Amino acid sequence: MLVKAETSRLRERRNVRELIRPIEELARGSQHLFTAHLELSGSLGERVTVPRFLFAGPGSGGASFLRLGIFGGLHGDEAASVLGVIAFIEQLHRDPELARGYELFIYPICNPTGYADDTRWSRNGVDLNRQFWRDSAEPEIVLLERQLVNLAFDGIVALHSDDTSAGLYGFVKGHALTRHVLEPALVRASTVLPRNFDKSIDNFQANEGIIDSGYPGVLSAPPAQHPRPLEIVFETPQLAPIDQQTEAHQLALEEILLRFRATISEAQSI
Ligand SMILES: [Zn+2]
Repeated sequence: MLVKAETSRLRERRNVRELIRPIEELARGSQHLFTAHLELSGSLGERVTVPRFLFAGPGSGGASFLRLGIFGGLHGDEAASVLGVIAFIEQLHRDPELARGYELFIYPICNPTGYADDTRWSRNGVDLNRQFWRDSAEPEIVLLERQLVNLAFDGIVALHSDDTSAGLYGFVKGHALTRHVLEPALVRASTVLPRNFDKSIDNFQANEGIIDSGYPGVLSAPPAQHPRPLEIVFETPQLAPIDQQTEAHQLALEEILLRFRATISEAQSI
């Protein structure tokens, strides 16, 4: 029997560049999709690249564009959150109408070293999703915090997988109407995987798969941003087949786009 260290050493490194290359190819011939990766030198002089794609939807007749940030792969071992975002970009490329009125800033792999190593943590041994707005010097956090400050998103969606959950669920933050975006996303994704209706999920009180608290330090809007954007964390059951999780993430993102505009205009008018 292999001990855990040997198992992980034998595990094939996942290749970030190969994963995003097809999306870069799509962007090359697209009027909507653009490649705009983020780069920074780490403390040891190593280059850290966080892949980023922009998707500019068709205009919405004079109404201002809504700016959404979509974040996958904060935990490197949650591959479905990465693959789901990639599938979503491919779907947008086939059907740009889905993004009418939106400016999407898409970060499919926020933790590239963790993804390459198939670990929750970055190669620095850090859980990146506990580091936000805590003066972290981790290069991925520095890059992403700058994005969150400079772009002041109207909405933030982060995707995860949870190996302790048998079903889909999510966290809502920011505006109280955020649950009106997450709810239909859970319904849509539950066409491929069951929803978690437990009263307690991940040690939080849950209401039909929706939790309105969360861990400190998770990816979120800058503390000084007002009004608060709609913030959603969407979770798939990590032990479910990867293809179903990937599809669930993709469907949830599509549904969020459908519901987000109506909800945010309602949120801003009250
Ligand atoms: Zn996670």
